[in-house]
Amino acid sequence: MSPEHFVIIGNGAAANRAADVLRRGDKDARITLISDEFFHFYHRHRLADYLAGTAGEDDLLVRTPQHYQKHRIRLRLGQRVTRVDPQEKVLYLKHMEKVRYTRLLLCTGGKPRLPEIYYAYRACFTTVKTLADARQLRERLDGIRDVVVVGGDLVSVRLAGALVRLGKAVTFLVDADAFWPLELTPERRAEFAERLTRAGIDVRLDDALIHVEPLASGGYRVTTRAGERLRADMVGAFFGLVPDVDFLLGTGLDVDRGLLVNEYLKTNLPDIYAAGDCAQVYNPALRNYWVSIGWPNAEKLGEVAARNLLGQMQPAGQAPASALEYEGIVVNTCWWRRM
Ligand SMILES: Cc1cc2nc3c(=O)[nH]c(=O)nc-3n(C[C@H](O)[C@H](O)[C@H](O)COP(=O)(O)OP(=O)(O)OC[C@H]3O[C@@H](n4cnc5c(N)ncnc54)[C@H](O)[C@@H]3O)c2cc1C
Repeated sequence: MSPEHFVIIGNGAAANRAADVLRRGDKDARITLISDEFFHFYHRHRLADYLAGTAGEDDLLVRTPQHYQKHRIRLRLGQRVTRVDPQEKVLYLKHMEKVRYTRLLLCTGGKPRLPEIYYAYRACFTTVKTLADARQLRERLDGIRDVVVVGGDLVSVRLAGALVRLGKAVTFLVDADAFWPLELTPERRAEFAERLTRAGIDVRLDDALIHVEPLASGGYRVTTRAGERLRADMVGAFFGLVPDVDFLLGTGLDVDRGLLVNEYLKTNLPDIYAAGDCAQVYNPALRNYWVSIGWPNAEKLGEVAARNLLGQMQPAGQAPASALEYEGIVVNTCWWRRM
């Protein structure tokens, strides 16, 4: 009987790929996946289809519950990890339960980024990262006619397209800060604007939201830098994803934009690795760290981390050159830590 208990925080592309590789490499180990989401592993990039009504919840599923039974992977859904004690090798769940691990893999993904200047308006904004977010929005759709979208990441582009197909009037304020930390050339931004306009979206290039307030009659009033006042039933804020690592601050893990890991995806603490959108990976050739947001990268890093947890020494290698694509426009979603 293997003495190992591999615990993985996360139930996305990185976590699931890692669990499969761990099971293939160690038939006897205990493997546990913990996720604060209530749903089984699903395709996040299909959330816009779900919203548009062209895909149901079942169409989003990547894995059935039987997969986990067959491979003896324990799945704990709807359970949030609030703290990690690396000395005792214990995780604390929100409902006060403790989970012991021998080796831990952090696959906590990304969370929607909101630029600081918009913090005061947080309660007015809608974001979509999870199926739960999309479900909530779908339930509100009948009461939504006018939509204002600020930002301009690829999630927003897809969701705006879905909302237009549902007959909603969408005004898109393409912020100069969109695609942060990447900077799109003026030509590239114009190209995006042109595609969005063709899709039926009212695009305002180089305008920005400067104020938003809820109206007593319902909905919101948005004031733009150009002085326009727009009424909206929904204000979407989409500025990309950033590593979701806040609950790990104070554990002793090295954190910059994401969890800092070496080329083998090992953190600075014993027996703790990280993979996927939450990881910031060292490349010794470049003497620099990279973060990359995207499904293929998450799968690749999940696989590499699992191999290394099994005792191999496989380097993660270079960051992928690009990850996301919208109607033929490819956006590089990888960025470097400024040293
Ligand atoms: C709407 C949308 C569209 C997208 N479209 C594309 C696309 O077209 N192409 C592409 O390549 N990428 C796309 N992405 C990005 C892609 O989905 C992510 O890069 C990928 O899912 C990352 O996988 P991951 O395993 O690193 O993390 P995630 O899939 O984010 O999973 C993280 C997991 O960690 C869990 N978790 C986090 N903190 C805790 C905690 N404290 N306790 C318990 N559980 C926790 C979460 O519940 C979740 O299960 C899209 C993302 C979104 C939101």
